[in-house]
Amino acid sequence: MRLGSFEIEVISDGTFALDGGAMFGVVPRVVWERQLPADAEHRVRLGLNCLLIRTGRDNILVDTGIGAKWDERSRSRYGIAHETTLLDGLARHHLTAEDISVVINTHLHFDHAGTNTTQRDGRAVPTFPRARYVVQRGEFEHASEPHERDRASYVRADFAPVAEAGQFELIDGDAEVAPGVSVIKVAGHNRDLQCVKVASGGETAFAFADLVPTTAHLPAAWVMGYDLYPTESVEQKKRLVPQAAREGWLCHFYHDPHTPLAYLRERDGKITFERLEA
Ligand SMILES: [Zn+2]
Repeated sequence: MRLGSFEIEVISDGTFALDGGAMFGVVPRVVWERQLPADAEHRVRLGLNCLLIRTGRDNILVDTGIGAKWDERSRSRYGIAHETTLLDGLARHHLTAEDISVVINTHLHFDHAGTNTTQRDGRAVPTFPRARYVVQRGEFEHASEPHERDRASYVRADFAPVAEAGQFELIDGDAEVAPGVSVIKVAGHNRDLQCVKVASGGETAFAFADLVPTTAHLPAAWVMGYDLYPTESVEQKKRLVPQAAREGWLCHFYHDPHTPLAYLRERDGKITFERLEA
């Protein structure tokens, strides 16, 4: 779809599943289950909704899905279903990996950086040979030496080969990474998550990344159990979600299995959304 003079497309890397309790933190199951039903293993199915931004000058990807570097056991544990992949989706838009000039990793968790690299001749190499990969410096450093609390969220092969190839552009705080495309550091999910703001022709789009992973997480207190700094997530959501509604931003929800793009409305302090066909 168009955003000013840019094109914005959701490119799915399939779906996966995570423990529903972990996805909804302190929200009771009887309440969250009405939003996202759990399977027999208490998991909820989640989208991997990468974003392609075509500015005319750059082809920019926001996050790279969960990728294909998984053995059968892990595929089953995470319920990975690749009815489509990021590269399949790019091909449908007549793009190859060589056409991507910028990859923005909102953070380096395996479900956001999976197709950063591809297994070739027994080793992982950068999937996008001409791209600079933009990530917060603090996130890269943390991923390289993760804490026990979130060690399981990182896979070295997603980012170490990118660093070895010299393709990371490490950012400190907010920055414009291409004309009209900015990253905004928002602590909460972890210390150095970055959201992405796109502005063209007076229109704005905003990728909430894991600050608001699905539309079910729009209420301020619906924060993931995974978040390292949940009260900061609440504060950031109270600031950004009403602003998105007020200013008519096109909102992107990376993990929503049904609603990757929506406009928000605020009525009597309650946020509702209007789904868009991606
Ligand atoms: Zn995630």
